[in-house]
Amino acid sequence: MKTPSKEENTKLDFIRQIVAEDLKTNKWDGRVVTRFPPEPNGYLHIGHAKSICLNFGIAAENKGGVCHLRFDDTNPIKEEQEYIDSIIEDVRWLGWDWAEHLYYGSDYFEQMYEYAVQLIKKGKAYVCDLTAEQTREFRGTLTEQGKDSPYRDRSVEENLDLFERMEAGEFPDGSRTLRAKIDMSAPNLNMRDPVMYRILHAAHPRTGDKWCIYPMYDWAHGLEDSIEKITHSICTLEFENHRPLYDWFLDELEAYHPQQIEFARLNLTYTVMSKRKLLQLVQQGHVEGWGDPRMPTICGLRRRGCSPKAIREFCRRIGINKFNSTVDIALLEHCLREDLNKTSPRVMAVLQPLKVIIDNYPEGKVEELEAINNPEDPNAGTRKVPFSGELYIEREDFMAEPPKKFYRLAPGREVRLRYAYFVTCTDVIEDENGNIVELHCTYDPATRGGDAPDGRKVKSTLHWVSAGHAIEARVRLYDHLFTKENPDDTAEGEDFKSNLNPNSRQILISCRVEPSLGRAEPGSRYQFERLGYFCVDPDSADGKLVFNRTVSLRDTWARIKKAQKKK
Ligand code: ATP
Ligand code: MG
Repeated sequence: MKTPSKEENTKLDFIRQIVAEDLKTNKWDGRVVTRFPPEPNGYLHIGHAKSICLNFGIAAENKGGVCHLRFDDTNPIKEEQEYIDSIIEDVRWLGWDWAEHLYYGSDYFEQMYEYAVQLIKKGKAYVCDLTAEQTREFRGTLTEQGKDSPYRDRSVEENLDLFERMEAGEFPDGSRTLRAKIDMSAPNLNMRDPVMYRILHAAHPRTGDKWCIYPMYDWAHGLEDSIEKITHSICTLEFENHRPLYDWFLDELEAYHPQQIEFARLNLTYTVMSKRKLLQLVQQGHVEGWGDPRMPTICGLRRRGCSPKAIREFCRRIGINKFNSTVDIALLEHCLREDLNKTSPRVMAVLQPLKVIIDNYPEGKVEELEAINNPEDPNAGTRKVPFSGELYIEREDFMAEPPKKFYRLAPGREVRLRYAYFVTCTDVIEDENGNIVELHCTYDPATRGGDAPDGRKVKSTLHWVSAGHAIEARVRLYDHLFTKENPDDTAEGEDFKSNLNPNSRQILISCRVEPSLGRAEPGSRYQFERLGYFCVDPDSADGKLVFNRTVSLRDTWARIKKAQKKK
């Protein structure tokens, strides 16, 4: 992998350029105030991480910069405390800090109401009695102008009275709305008298039954930014054609007016990112909750074994730009390997054990062999691994009739056991069905540590564990949750769930790991030599170890890059 040059490293994306320019011209009196504004209607995913790293990153990079964590909790029907708690945990886990700047859109309901009254008084908002369906009809289409609502020209007094009564709970759900009075013939549909408030007799997790009218996103969002004196309100591209409305509201109110800037959202291959779809996967039991290690959620990635640093590095590498594209998930995996390679201790684990008896090893003898914890980290030291005459090796590392390029163990062949000895396979024991159940080998005592004094070479080195010392463990191997790069690429009449990968999780129940893992804490990460990176799952609680494979050792991203270079 090419390391970015210094120039590339310091090149600012277009949003950071705007921020730098604004600081130069003192546009915001030297302030940099961003915000991350999730709606607490689901768990955060890797797409949110892009937005989090951008907003908190910009605040952190600039002196005095601040990033608010703001819950955009304006729709009581879909929002829950569980989501609020998880969002707080996840943003923190990603490594960011909002100090005292934790806010809730619902805390501004009163102010928003006052602002709405202000617009009504100005003749810029009116109460409309059209039903939702009629409102949609009157709205027109991209090619067809909208029609004015028959309620559009109500007097200010009547509007004030009706709005007050809406707020007081006099009218049933859906019977009336408050709308901005802009232009029903505007080419931008968002400007065709958008709804500001709807009637909804629903309890809110924070304001309870205090309100039965709730603000719509476009109305609420700009006000939240304005009230918090945000400087740069950064959002994804879908909001580009909402910006005229964002600006219109704040201009008409003559309120403090942040600058909205849009960037392209993150899409990843083999991944769905919409909360609506993720919720479906959870509710219909296709995964085991939001935190399933196959989910692209932050909590899923955490359980899978991803480190916050790798996610931040991934977000840095994908960069920020203005057109939508899809990032190869291999890049995320690459960033993971890069970080885990530096930080994870190496251990030996056998996923599909095959018993090996060393016939010439002294009966009952056990040796403690020295193993290196992490060749990438000289401070990580060494540990002792027990070796005995009964071992397990990986079933895959033996073939009775090896094809040409198979260099691992086979009858009559000599290989190295990592940190231990050269062994030669002398006999293969099969059960009545012809399944291999056990191998017999001899070892060469002169090769202790892994080298032969006579200089003879072997073509492969296998990992192993001592049968009498190893700990039994379960290991879950994960693959992409979807079989298609674009999960939404489906046959007619099917939806994204038809592309779910039936083999996205494989559970191995009688793996063996070296005894040093007996004290492994949930969340700790290891490299199982020759196999990949694994993380202890919280299910290990009752003393039975459970590991999740975070990512295998094979780096498809590096291969893609190499292939591209050759072209
Ligand atoms: P979803 O589309 O997954 O339902 P959302 O936009 O409805 O997400 P919010 O809670 O409103 O979810 O998102 C909070 C912030 O995260 C917003 O500023 C939004 O623009 C940003 N965000 C959401 N998804 C992505 C993504 N895939 N890439 C980058 N930013 C995103
Ligand atoms: Mg949203």
